[in-house]
Amino acid sequence: MSEATVMEKLASLAKRRGYVFQSSEIYGGAGSVWDYGPLGAELKRNIKDLWWSRMVHQRRDVEGLDAAILMNPRVWEASGHVEGFTDPLVECRTCKKRFREDQLAQQPCGRKPSKAPGEADECDLGEARNFNLMFRTFMGPVEDAGSQVYLRPETAQGIYVNFLNVQGAARQRVPFGIAQIGKAFRNEITPGNFIFRTREFEQAEMQYFVKPGSDDEWFDYWMEERMEWLVSLGIDRENLRFHEHGPDELAHYAKKAFDIEYRFPFGWKEFEGIHNRTDFDLSRHQEYSGKRMEYIEPGSGERYIPYVVETSLGVDRVLLVLLADAYREEEVEGEERVVLALHPRLAPTKAAIFPLVKKDGLPERARRMQDDLEGASIPSFYDESGSIGRRYRRQDEAGTPWCVTYDGQSLEDDSVTIRDRDSLEQVRVPEEGVEAWLRERLNPAAGG
Ligand code: ATP
Repeated sequence: MSEATVMEKLASLAKRRGYVFQSSEIYGGAGSVWDYGPLGAELKRNIKDLWWSRMVHQRRDVEGLDAAILMNPRVWEASGHVEGFTDPLVECRTCKKRFREDQLAQQPCGRKPSKAPGEADECDLGEARNFNLMFRTFMGPVEDAGSQVYLRPETAQGIYVNFLNVQGAARQRVPFGIAQIGKAFRNEITPGNFIFRTREFEQAEMQYFVKPGSDDEWFDYWMEERMEWLVSLGIDRENLRFHEHGPDELAHYAKKAFDIEYRFPFGWKEFEGIHNRTDFDLSRHQEYSGKRMEYIEPGSGERYIPYVVETSLGVDRVLLVLLADAYREEEVEGEERVVLALHPRLAPTKAAIFPLVKKDGLPERARRMQDDLEGASIPSFYDESGSIGRRYRRQDEAGTPWCVTYDGQSLEDDSVTIRDRDSLEQVRVPEEGVEAWLRERLNPAAGG
């Protein structure tokens, strides 16, 4: 399959099944902004819950934070974003399309007539100028320079400015981390590839504060830990790799940086970054705010500005990774099926419940099963329409790992079949044992 076909198929499945819709679709969309439908919202929540569970709940050395999107604009001066968060923008003088100069491939011009049949004319590009990616707005009723604020382009700064608040309130000692999940906004010049590069997105970031000198060791630790978590979500390890930033790629604040890349249908691309940000951010906030950002070591009284190892995951990008990695087209008993083989802990719906036929009290019993699963907070879906084969196919496409069916034998011995999405195997389970059977496999306590 060509890359365009795979991405088109994914986007179309995502829309059909209620994973992702274009924002404001009835008005023609809104410049690379997307909405998550019923299944997408669940998948996104599951990703965030598993991340939070692994990064915060299952550790003593990481605290959670939920900082505001709007901040004092001085934050973005200190962080370097006002001055330096720019991409080089070039514009075609003929068709007026805009491109990022550092991502230029040969661009066929949209307006120029071709010279020869089949030969595309290139764009006539002007000079590159630096374009700041931060969205600007105004705080309060007066729209002047003094009231200008920014939508945060990363969640990290909310963590840095709260470093001492969290450390004191939670009585943490270095090394420790602060994690948060939240929206970030970047006015990207060339968004695209579905939800890969958008102008509004969510980040799950963790900043780990360490004593200078121990930063390399912690960097290695977090690289390994993050990779392990991604593999625990069921992502094929073969489709993951690290990419180290060379000297020309390193951000101004970074001593060392590795991307975690996924083999997308459109090539290897980053979806998480691990960065050694040194003491850059805390030092700059100390300088710009005039407030002490040092840590005082208990016992020795030694003072220092900690180094920071950051792990920064794009929630929307990892959602795309999970969809792409789970997407399969298979032939089963001479019939094509499309499957989203999502890890059960990520799957939006855990079980579908079917009465094989609409009689003999089977629909009522299946409904009661749904009531019980609802009571146990296990998301389920009831379906009595169409042949059982069609019902299976719909759930395969939606990524539901198990289908529970009431059939003739249920009337005799109160058992049901549970069909596994991936192996297609069916087992008979007593009706009252279904909840426990599902729980055992979902194992929510393990949490990732
Ligand atoms: P890129 O080079 O793709 O623009 P970046 O290096 O600027 O990304 P970071 O600033 O390191 O990205 O952000 C951390 C993570 O946030 C990225 O790995 C990605 O998953 C996510 N992210 C960044 N920009 C976007 C975007 N425009 N849309 C969706 N996710 C994004």
